Amino acid sequence: MSLFPPAACPRLIVKIGSALLVDPEGGVRRAWLEGIAQDIAARTAAGQQVAVVSSGAIALGARRLGLAKGGRASLEDAQAAAATGQIALAGVWADVLAAQGLTAAQMLVTLGDLEERRRYLNAAATLGRLLQLGTVPVINENDSVATEEIRFGDNDRLAARIAQAAGAHGVVLLSDIDGLYDRNPAQPGAQHIPRVERIDAGIEAMADRGSASGMGSGGMVSKIAAARIANAAGAALAIASGHAPHPLSTAARHTLFVAERTAPARKAWLAGGLTAAGTIHVDAGAAHALTEGRSLLAAGATRVEGAFARGDLVAIAGPAGPIARGLSEYDAVEAARLLGRRSDEHAALLGYAPRAALVHRNHMALL
Ligand code: GLU
Repeated sequence: MSLFPPAACPRLIVKIGSALLVDPEGGVRRAWLEGIAQDIAARTAAGQQVAVVSSGAIALGARRLGLAKGGRASLEDAQAAAATGQIALAGVWADVLAAQGLTAAQMLVTLGDLEERRRYLNAAATLGRLLQLGTVPVINENDSVATEEIRFGDNDRLAARIAQAAGAHGVVLLSDIDGLYDRNPAQPGAQHIPRVERIDAGIEAMADRGSASGMGSGGMVSKIAAARIANAAGAALAIASGHAPHPLSTAARHTLFVAERTAPARKAWLAGGLTAAGTIHVDAGAAHALTEGRSLLAAGATRVEGAFARGDLVAIAGPAGPIARGLSEYDAVEAARLLGRRSDEHAALLGYAPRAALVHRNHMALL
């Protein structure tokens, strides 16, 4: 278990490419999947929370429907293939995980679900809760409804976004290639790059376009884009070959993109030049708890300023001045209603099931 051991990486996202899941005849590679389910079980038993980003819906559905070009000849074909393949894929995941005593949970998300802040909070909260509950979320893009302009299109970047939303520490992209080479690996003399400290123009130039298997849509370009997103979010990312059985338990050759250690990188997306829509003032106790990395609970909040909506960026100020920024789980009116109140009073005050915090630590950047 050399790659991302549980002690160093409490939350791991594993992305599995289409070519690993679907054989050329259009069947699910079940024996291989059973192996990966065993790998996941070993990791969860060791205390690691694991979510899977699984491709393969389009490849699987296209073969079942007899569609040309792997179901990618038109958007309508891809959507029909995804709808047909996804239900089969989900069933197989549920089976192989259940055989290991694990509960699968399906999440289908669109680009908008992760780009728009209010919906991002919803998706992140669901994902966090599923992981806390000990399920193995199996995630894919909701390809049957997403239209071209609003699609991720490749699950590499989706996996990186999921890592960001889950506050994960590592991402493994399992596909048919064991990492980055300094040129097209088919060319003689191509050198494998084991570790990338910084993604600069030189690294970008090494990426070859296209996916070798022709099944998935993510080539090296989308893998490097994913590494950039994951690294900026504070998660390391590995590109590893999934060909051999048990790829998560063996020390297979890979390329590791190391997370940036500078700026509280996971929070870069929050900071991102946005202006805060309001301020939540907190007492000294809450201010101290925040500096220890906790979430902001309503009990420690004393006053709200501004007319912010759920998902808006707010400033958090302690008695001595600004201490953090983060995405508010409530709008200003609701937040004001909860000031100083304990969590067990919230449901009655709001009239609906409350969120765990005013601002969750995963969506907060200390100043
Ligand atoms: N979401 C696509 C599917 O399930 C895969 C996207 C990709 O190839 O990365 O088929």
